[in-house]
Amino acid sequence: MPRPLLLRLLLLLSLLGLGACLGGSVAGVAGAAEPTTLAASHLAKMDVDKEDWKAKTHDWWAAHLTPLQVQVCRDAGTERPFTGAHNAHKGPGTFLCSSCGLALFDAQTKFDSGTGWPSFFDALPGAIKSVSDTSLGMTRVEVRCSRCDAHLGHVFDDGPKPTGLRYCINSVCLLTAGPPPPK
Ligand SMILES: [Zn+2]
Repeated sequence: MPRPLLLRLLLLLSLLGLGACLGGSVAGVAGAAEPTTLAASHLAKMDVDKEDWKAKTHDWWAAHLTPLQVQVCRDAGTERPFTGAHNAHKGPGTFLCSSCGLALFDAQTKFDSGTGWPSFFDALPGAIKSVSDTSLGMTRVEVRCSRCDAHLGHVFDDGPKPTGLRYCINSVCLLTAGPPPPK
């Protein structure tokens, strides 16, 4: 294969890889002002287990989340890659839904996918709901929070062992908490 063609092919493949998480629109420019921990979010003042999360209106979400959280987590947008605070996060703990506080991912399942979005090879039992997504001319599997229906990202079958899955998740839809995930 001639070298210029090979380079073009590699560039195309890298662009496709970066675009793998893209939803309906790309939102925001940086995640620096977004809450990153449970204590920093609206959830700190709530009894998250007693709320009727599926009954919340869009206006309620808009009053309690940041504009970027609303765009991505409630309106199925996508944050710009390499901007989210959790993308490079390492260490133990649990990743929670930034909308309702449900534990979604054990930090031990996080890996560096190189895509610019936090990536996990497994989710906690019962935490995630999968939905077929045919936007942008592609067939993908969208993943949502099973408790509040927040859009989180997509899941692909090109992840590492042991599951072979890659949950490609918007950082702004996550919060971190120190304790280990519930068993
Ligand atoms: Zn949720």
